[in-house]
Amino acid sequence: AVNYLLPFMEEEKLASEDGGISHRATILLATVKGDVHDIGKNIVGVVLGCNNYRIIDLGVMVSSEHILKVTQQENVDIVGLSGLITPSLDEMVHVAKEMKRLQLEVPLLIGGATTSARHTAVRIAPEYDSPVVHVLDASRSVGVVDKLLNPELRDGYQQSNVEKQAELVASFETRQLKLVSYEEACDNRLTTDWSELEISTPEFIGNRTIESQSLETLRDFIDWTPFFMTWQLKGKYPRIFQHETLGAPARELFDHAQQLLDDIISQQLFRATAVYGFWPAASVGDDIIVYTDESRNKQKTILHTLRQQTRRKGQDYFRSLADYVAPRGSNRSDYIGAFALTTGNGVAEQVAQYEAAGDDYNSIMVKALADRLAEAFAEYLHQHSRQCWGYGKSENLTNEDLIAEQYRGIRPAPGYPAQPDHTEKSTIWELLEVQQATSIELTDSLAMMPAASVSGLYFAHPEARYFAVDRIGNDQLEDYARRKNMPIEAARRWLGSIL
Ligand code: SAH
Repeated sequence: AVNYLLPFMEEEKLASEDGGISHRATILLATVKGDVHDIGKNIVGVVLGCNNYRIIDLGVMVSSEHILKVTQQENVDIVGLSGLITPSLDEMVHVAKEMKRLQLEVPLLIGGATTSARHTAVRIAPEYDSPVVHVLDASRSVGVVDKLLNPELRDGYQQSNVEKQAELVASFETRQLKLVSYEEACDNRLTTDWSELEISTPEFIGNRTIESQSLETLRDFIDWTPFFMTWQLKGKYPRIFQHETLGAPARELFDHAQQLLDDIISQQLFRATAVYGFWPAASVGDDIIVYTDESRNKQKTILHTLRQQTRRKGQDYFRSLADYVAPRGSNRSDYIGAFALTTGNGVAEQVAQYEAAGDDYNSIMVKALADRLAEAFAEYLHQHSRQCWGYGKSENLTNEDLIAEQYRGIRPAPGYPAQPDHTEKSTIWELLEVQQATSIELTDSLAMMPAASVSGLYFAHPEARYFAVDRIGNDQLEDYARRKNMPIEAARRWLGSIL
């Protein structure tokens, strides 16, 4: 649709302006250093481009130096920063400080999955004197940019933005944090009658690699609802097709996705690679000891977990992932699993072809499909792993059941709410020898590269659930840093979003 409309929009614009000024203003977009996801940013670029703004898209993993240099050289009118993972929040604060140091006055837009109006108000806006605006989604970007660049509207808009941010700061500062002490949280962990629990023994110990997984198989494991979310169409698949206004565009997108997926599969344009494994394991406090073999004499590594410290309604205990593994000394032999996978090899080549042809739509589509196949692979591999582990052998679930997590066990990912610490990914990388097996790399901020990658741990405990650690206290921070052998300042930085 965009490609179809573009020529008309240009014509209309040129016809309406005497001097033939073909662009209204220049907007720089970048995914910050250490981060690799850019679908949302690219959609913002397309939407603003269609509204006749000149877009300079610097791509992913862009250093603050580069952002600042181009901002100055190209007379940029607005800078938009994007990020998916929590360490990017710090990087955005850093860019804001640098913009102030260089006495820039260009408004700053903040967007992406982990960003929030509150974080923008509390941490980023105070570092910069010009407008800093959190933009919820691409469709709002045009309204925000239009106002920021309109001399008549700009001041009024900034005033209401500043007022809203002051309210967010005030509510942040007066929020009631009812944290229990770390000690109390540990004393009230999720308990299990270990003598009664049925524990299966995995078929093998150690790791195995899948060099090239059939994409045809993965297709049947795709969860399509997030695909529509990516394109900013909110609705559940397949019901979305019946929606009054979203139905038609959703159908069109879906049909295009199927055509492209046919090509991707028949021409094997992406390669799906994974490594997964199981090891004997035991919890010790909030750590999980991973042993090299069944003798359980030699430690292979230690996984570290964080425990909830806030009281929640309907829950009289405080969870940590370590609760799902039988404690050392319980006389039970338990296990843990881990995995890392990617469907991203080959994606960059496809994207480059589409970008060279000026085809933003298919460039975004190809990335969106690679992400879908990666999540489908995670679902498929988890099912396979439950069978290898044993307890999943009698499972008989449809894809809808799998999407609704109707099986036993979980696959929490480091950096997500049950383990907000991205540095645990480094441990998984060593444990599974991920880099050698799959070539997935970790960036400075511990984002996985290629972007269409997923990793996590496997827990088999029947009571295992996803949860959010949320806020933790200094007492836990100190204990965690000590257990991890990490300088307290580094721990404070990595866990900044939950302190
Ligand atoms: N069907 C979805 C599945 C991905 S999102 C899709 O195709 O996109 C769900 C995954 O996110 C989980 O499998 C888990 O790996 C991770 N996750 C979700 N909530 C989590 C939490 N609280 N803690 C850790 N990981 C979580």
